[in-house]
Amino acid sequence: MLLLLFVFIFGFGFLAYKRASLISFTLAIGIYLILLSTMDIASNLTLVIYIALAVAINTKTFRQQYVSRHFLKLYRRIMPEMSQTEKEAIDAGTTWWEADLFRGAPDWQKMHNYPAPRLTPEEKAFLEGPVEVACSMVNDHQVCHQDADLSPQLWQYLKDNGFFAMIIKQQYGGLEFSAYAQSRVLQKLSGISTVLASTVGVPNSLGPGELLQHYGTQAQKDHYLPRLASGKEIPCFALTSPEAGSDAGAIPDFGIICKGQWQGKEILGMKITWNKRYITLAPVATVLGLAFKLRDPDGLLGDKPDLGITCALIPTDIAGVNIGRRHLPLNIPFQNGPTSGDEVFFPLDFIIGGPEMAGRGWQMLVECLSVGRGITLPSNSTGAIKMLALATGAYSRIRRQFKVPIGHMEGIEEPLARIGGNAYLMDAVTTMTTGAIDLGEKPSVVSAIVKYHLTDRMQGCVIDAMDIHGGKGICLGPNNYLGRGYQGAPIAITVEGANILTRSLIIYGQGAIRCHPYVLAELDAAQLTDEREALEQFDHAVFGHIGFAVSNFCRSFWLGITNSRFSNSPFDDETKRYYQHMNRFSANLAFLSDIAMAVLGGELKRKERISARLGDILSQLYLCSATLKRFNDDGRQQQDLPLMHWAVRDSLFKAQTALDELLRNFPLPLVGKILRWVLYPTGITLVTTYDALDQEVAQLLQQPSISRDRLGYGQYWAVASNNPVGIQEQTLRDVLAAEKILKKISLTTGKKEPLIFLDKLADEALELGCITEEEAQHLRDTEVGRLASINVDDFSPEQLRMGTSK
Ligand SMILES: Cc1cc2nc3c(=O)[nH]c(=O)nc-3n(C[C@H](O)[C@H](O)[C@H](O)COP(=O)(O)OP(=O)(O)OC[C@H]3O[C@@H](n4cnc5c(N)ncnc54)[C@H](O)[C@@H]3O)c2cc1C
Repeated sequence: MLLLLFVFIFGFGFLAYKRASLISFTLAIGIYLILLSTMDIASNLTLVIYIALAVAINTKTFRQQYVSRHFLKLYRRIMPEMSQTEKEAIDAGTTWWEADLFRGAPDWQKMHNYPAPRLTPEEKAFLEGPVEVACSMVNDHQVCHQDADLSPQLWQYLKDNGFFAMIIKQQYGGLEFSAYAQSRVLQKLSGISTVLASTVGVPNSLGPGELLQHYGTQAQKDHYLPRLASGKEIPCFALTSPEAGSDAGAIPDFGIICKGQWQGKEILGMKITWNKRYITLAPVATVLGLAFKLRDPDGLLGDKPDLGITCALIPTDIAGVNIGRRHLPLNIPFQNGPTSGDEVFFPLDFIIGGPEMAGRGWQMLVECLSVGRGITLPSNSTGAIKMLALATGAYSRIRRQFKVPIGHMEGIEEPLARIGGNAYLMDAVTTMTTGAIDLGEKPSVVSAIVKYHLTDRMQGCVIDAMDIHGGKGICLGPNNYLGRGYQGAPIAITVEGANILTRSLIIYGQGAIRCHPYVLAELDAAQLTDEREALEQFDHAVFGHIGFAVSNFCRSFWLGITNSRFSNSPFDDETKRYYQHMNRFSANLAFLSDIAMAVLGGELKRKERISARLGDILSQLYLCSATLKRFNDDGRQQQDLPLMHWAVRDSLFKAQTALDELLRNFPLPLVGKILRWVLYPTGITLVTTYDALDQEVAQLLQQPSISRDRLGYGQYWAVASNNPVGIQEQTLRDVLAAEKILKKISLTTGKKEPLIFLDKLADEALELGCITEEEAQHLRDTEVGRLASINVDDFSPEQLRMGTSK
């Protein structure tokens, strides 16, 4: 009997684990029952009843009439209601690798087969040429403190060299760069100046250029795209208004279809009233992309009085268009300000895509957001962190307190490791995500994941870097490479979907529906008015869904009791266990999603903290897989192991924490307890990073090496007066060489010489004859760099008045 029970549990568990079809299950149970009846354990009557049930459940018409019909009724009662804007947002874009992670059985080989993105020779030349020049032209302190703008020369250079036209097709004079190349450009720019990176990032993100290329009429493309490419036109895009920030679908700005005078003639047009704020580049824009709700009360366009959100392109020199005033976003003075207009009349041709695209604005915006959100802010954040990782590592090695480099103190190693590990992870994530975009994906869920997590990690790392730098990070001035990034971090957190909203509502809200193999099909089927068609489609989806849920339960249980030891991994080395843990989390996520949906139904949308934690599991799995992909695509570099280990352990631990909190706070506490027992029979087991690993990562940041170079690859490291980070990099190398000279001197003097006043020490050592003139000169040069690294700027009171400091 025990053996039979064993065969039953493992046989069916195995079939479920392998996601066997309904017919395979039915046959397997049939064979099992026949076996039992030959052993006189099951009666013939049991067999007959089973055969009748098996035939019924495998006969579509019977199943639909007697089972699926009732499920459909129930489903329609609990189905979440969805507004048109929500539906369009959910439908936008595509799903990609995150869908595999969501579905409980990721195929790792598939992930590793995605090609690693590469730069074309033109893109490489642009990064090494114009981007390097643009970086050399910016003085961030002057921009932020004195001019509140980029210099006119830099503006002109950016326009002349196509910086605002990276997404515009070559046939219109643009650069037509890959998403990966755009990301690399932004990373490099953001390492030297947030204002510069934001100024370049916005026209290449969601805005007139992108919208025109996808939806513009040929005449609009021919007119605007060459002018945008050459920098003759500066675009901005205005969606946000004082009453509608995160809830952008609720904008009160409106247009009325009516007749009016245009260039001396009466034409059919629209009178638009708007009041927008926070609009990047608006103060200097020549063309304003505007989102508003279009109405046609007199039926001049058709029979729909409320056409809905519409996007138009408005030349800003038209009378009645108000621009020019500026906001001051946290002392990071990129051009940003309000715009308004009161009943200003424009032709219908101003609508992007022409009058037939009236009312399609929301769909256009969410589609384009799926791409832009995955490039600009994640890349800016990554560039900032790559620069910070090396700069903070160098500073920690140069700066001494208690006679040792602060980077050798365990307390400093902890935050330093966070910065290093995150720099490795964030670069991996931007590479994998922009690679997906270059493969033709519009990954709406992934772009929300990377926007939230990379800006969030960036903010955490900047705070860590500030703490490590102490007063050096606090006193602003030309030598401070940190303070502006620290001030500006909340901007990245807020724009393109504020982070709390993105985590609580968007990642999982969109992810669950788009990535689940059956939920969208069920929703669509339930909304059909043709009952036969609805039943046909719903039946297919709901039975698939049941099988999927049973399979994920079995996978979760098996992976739980075995601690995922026997599950698949593409590598049999130090990364093997990471893949296995991800198999488990992936199965858990799929299973818990179904349980949460079943228990909460439409309420799940309002249970934001449940939704956020489920989204966190999905997000951490994505970050973790991107890191492992990077490690492999980089050639499985052994020197990078500490960085890879740190990044993977950190995200796996965060996934586990999200799961733990989810179960602890499950809406039905008893269900939460049972789920914990089923999923974690041996308890929560993963530990986060450990001290020795933190130490390895922290030391890696302080010592030049191939691995460290890889971490900062592609950033602006020129040793130039506008780039204190480049100078500090040189100083790090000088200090390490100086330490060897110091040892030589110490042998002669018989005491441990401290690494200060190196110029004086050089003279004394020369007199003692224990070093060469060349070594003495090295000590003098090192002292100059060392002082530049540890010193901060000071100003006369007059200089500190805005607009006078140099
Ligand atoms: C510097 C800067 C540049 C910008 N550039 C542009 C631009 O070029 N064009 C443009 O159109 N807009 C732009 N914006 C606007 C930006 O997109 C909005 O600021 C953003 O959408 C958030 O709106 P809000 O600031 O009004 O915050 P609110 O919407 O008032 O949100 C306040 C808080 O509530 C949270 N929240 C809101 N709803 C929910 C929810 N359902 N669940 C949980 N939390 C929620 C948010 O996450 C946030 O933390 C810019 C903003 C800034 C600051």
